[in-house]
Amino acid sequence: MTDDFKEVTDEDIETVKKEDKAAPADSASEADRSDDTDDNEYENVCFMCRRPESKTGEMFKLMNSICICSDCMHKTMDTVTQFDYQGMLQDPSMLDSLSSEKGKGFPNIRFLNISDLQGTGGIPNKQKIKKKKKESEPIDLKSIPSPHKLKAMLDEYVCGQEHAKKVISVAVYNHYKRVATNHQDDIDIEKSNMLMIGPTGCGKTYLVRTLARLLNVPLAIADATTLTEAGYIGDDIESVLSKLLIAADNDVEKAERGIVFIDEIDKLAKKKDANNRDINGESVQQGLLRLLEGADVEVPVGASNKNAMVPMTTINTKNILFICGGAFPDLAEIIRQRLKKQTGIGFSAELKDKYDSDEDILSKVTNEDLRKFGFIPEFLGRLPVVYTLKPLDEDMLVKILSEPKNAILKQYQKLLEIDEVRLIFDESAYRAIAQKAIKKETGARALRAIIEEFMLDIMYEIPKDDNIGTVTITGEYINGTGGPIIEQRVIPPSEHPTEYIGANG
Ligand code: ADP
Repeated sequence: MTDDFKEVTDEDIETVKKEDKAAPADSASEADRSDDTDDNEYENVCFMCRRPESKTGEMFKLMNSICICSDCMHKTMDTVTQFDYQGMLQDPSMLDSLSSEKGKGFPNIRFLNISDLQGTGGIPNKQKIKKKKKESEPIDLKSIPSPHKLKAMLDEYVCGQEHAKKVISVAVYNHYKRVATNHQDDIDIEKSNMLMIGPTGCGKTYLVRTLARLLNVPLAIADATTLTEAGYIGDDIESVLSKLLIAADNDVEKAERGIVFIDEIDKLAKKKDANNRDINGESVQQGLLRLLEGADVEVPVGASNKNAMVPMTTINTKNILFICGGAFPDLAEIIRQRLKKQTGIGFSAELKDKYDSDEDILSKVTNEDLRKFGFIPEFLGRLPVVYTLKPLDEDMLVKILSEPKNAILKQYQKLLEIDEVRLIFDESAYRAIAQKAIKKETGARALRAIIEEFMLDIMYEIPKDDNIGTVTITGEYINGTGGPIIEQRVIPPSEHPTEYIGANG
């Protein structure tokens, strides 16, 4: 036997593993990859000389996953053609002696009956890199705030939406209780994935974002409109988990307890024209089923699509909380039709009209309505917690302007405070901004654009004059019928007291 063909020992396999790990390891994600068990970490090994494919070059693939390197294959062919095997076959005792040292049989060749290796036979064809299993720290139940505490925390940032805040607090509390205790006994608590329905700009994303920040868990926000069935242009479904992994700094354990928010979920409704393949509607719903339920998913690290150049890792979605949200524009009409059908004729007929003017019709949604909207029952079954958010009215918008901890007007007050100027908004200004926002029909999203517009001049002009002490924004200024009230400072800027003045002065 030549050196090249000496049997590979366990030590050699270890070396190959190490080389494999060392080769492209240029990032933390690469290290993560080597931690995980997946198909990429298997390597073909020559059945005869036991050298791995990385050393031998491409191998011949035979049946039963047996691989032979080209060196062994050529050597075999050479030896076979040189040898008088006809004579050998007439003497069966030669076969028994196989490759004995004493000169009987074929040198360097072992005879094996391949059919003996069928089934689960130990073909040492693939080498597996062992997963370095980190001991996962169990979640401390005491560290999870109880629902009322969670809601109180949310109240500081999110205005109104009382029902939604209550439902989400309970669902999240139950979810993390489930994560903390599920392995302790036979009773499996089911996942509390959520479906959030509410018009645009009413705070769906903001609510989830605030929640993730308060709980200090990684959050991935994905847009359902970009998702397509695997193999088509667009993001693969697994890409939502790649985002989560990035949010968790490539820490798989941390990502496995995170939150995934899939926005614009209503765009996944089945398309009405069933002629074409629904690659970004029903197919994506089907694809998401596995993720929502809890499965080991192979995820590209740092990319939205799988390809040969992207390292992969495995994430288990069992403890990931999925929250889906959308505006569901035509859903109100579906609910209305159902409710009207339920109402009888005659005396109760007048009641039908009340549904036409019902602002909060979405809160009467049922699974049946969502199925009619275009969701498959399996998908809805995996989102057991369904709740709605209310459209924002004028009073709510006024609250959003002034009450939350990081309200946008407070941010401007802070900016001007650095220049030792007091910024005051009077009640009429709040109302005027809210009324303008309602006209834009994009909920609280419109507020920022309106404020940016009128604050531009203030932020530009005020620092010009050191003597300006107080600026009061009025409703007339917002509506373009007047200017802000500017007061000079009495005392020099450096001695001026700095304090916030809120909505009520
Ligand atoms: P959507 O419902 O379309 O996801 P967002 O959550 O993105 O809307 O809301 C847009 C912005 O409006 C948020 O960044 C937040 O500043 C503000 N906002 C919306 N709703 C509320 C609310 N209830 N309380 C406080 N701010 C809100």
